Amino acid sequence: MRQAIARGLFETGLSPVFPAQAECRGIDEGYAIDYAGKRGGREQYHGGIDMPAPWGTPMIAAASGTVVGKFQGERSFRGIEIVLRHSSDDTGIPLWTYTQYAHCSEMPTLEVGRRVRMGDRICPTGNTGIGQTGVQSNRRRPAIHFAVFFSTREQYVEMRNVIIPADGYWMDPVALFRKTLPLDSSSMKSLPEAEKRIPISVMFDSGETFPADTRVVWPYACTRK
Ligand SMILES: [Zn+2]
Repeated sequence: MRQAIARGLFETGLSPVFPAQAECRGIDEGYAIDYAGKRGGREQYHGGIDMPAPWGTPMIAAASGTVVGKFQGERSFRGIEIVLRHSSDDTGIPLWTYTQYAHCSEMPTLEVGRRVRMGDRICPTGNTGIGQTGVQSNRRRPAIHFAVFFSTREQYVEMRNVIIPADGYWMDPVALFRKTLPLDSSSMKSLPEAEKRIPISVMFDSGETFPADTRVVWPYACTRK
């Protein structure tokens, strides 16, 4: 845990601001909140953000990228998950970034190595993942767990069903929507309060994006108001 905190797993105070004309799925459990209560007292912080959604709602690719891992996650709190890696050409951000989509209701059909485009359907929302009792918890609300990692290096390893970027860092997923450096947690935490409200780029159900030229979108499509 100490190592995760040193690598950016702590609260930054960022909050998402959705476009005025968009109805989007908001966060109910934020980045790096204390999960010790949910994890049987063990020190643990939330590695991503959760957005509840009705069962089966498609999770969508937050950016174009390549599938680097997908896991059944029988012994994971995250359940069925898929991980994409994005180059700087994919996102416009001069880093390698990784997006992780978890609690899928079923194993994604996308194969490792496949390219996906921003907004492609990744998997349907479910509630897979074990609870603190160590078994699949059917009481969990359906939601996406969305996490982001980054590195200046291209390489990653797969270790015990987890994708670990070489020299990687945790990112507050809301920071991804700044689309510009810095986006590390220390810099985010020290931003002036006014700059902690981050405008979120989105894709609508129609497939249109806002802004039109964005290369990053919220991992659920939004509805036009
Ligand atoms: Zn989560």
